[in-house]
Amino acid sequence: MAGLKHIFENATVTRINPRFRHEMADAEKLLLCFQCGTCTAGCPVSRFSSFYNPRKIARMVQLGLKDRLLSDAALWLCTTCYTCIDNCPQGVEVANIVRSLRNLSVKERRVMPLISKKLALNILRSGYAYIIPESRIRRRITQGLPHLPRSNLKQIAKLFEVTDFLGVIENVETFEKVEVKE
Ligand code: SF4
Ligand code: SF4
Repeated sequence: MAGLKHIFENATVTRINPRFRHEMADAEKLLLCFQCGTCTAGCPVSRFSSFYNPRKIARMVQLGLKDRLLSDAALWLCTTCYTCIDNCPQGVEVANIVRSLRNLSVKERRVMPLISKKLALNILRSGYAYIIPESRIRRRITQGLPHLPRSNLKQIAKLFEVTDFLGVIENVETFEKVEVKE
């Protein structure tokens, strides 16, 4: 397992890619961002860390700082709570931009948090993101709760295969935690 430093240290951080914003979902809306900072003000992650800043991420995408963004493990701090989307006066979907950046980071840099890889493998093996222990299943029965639905593992495996996600998670480098720089 590689550390973040090893994964990101060779990244070129200054190159500008003017086409980059067009790789994002809803690129036109992103151009409407006028840097008011409302997204950052309401973001639960930014509240506790100056390291993570959705307003800054929106600006960096506008400027085409692709290498720098994809080299930043802070992308994985977003909780996907969607507060920024609810609050943005311009309808910019920052959370979805962050999701696109993560997808690109996995696709192009082949790196993801270890927990994401574990959750993906759990889905592949059981159909559930978390492996449900036998003791909990027995307790459900004693409480008279219905059986949990069975997943179609063959279909899930097929999906992993046709999307090449299986190849990605087999070859991806992982990191355990994001080092927060204050
Ligand atoms: S709230 Fe919307 S317009 Fe304001 S900085 Fe964030 S993304 Fe840009
Ligand atoms: S979705 Fe992410 S960026 Fe948006 S408010 Fe929640 S944690 Fe912050």
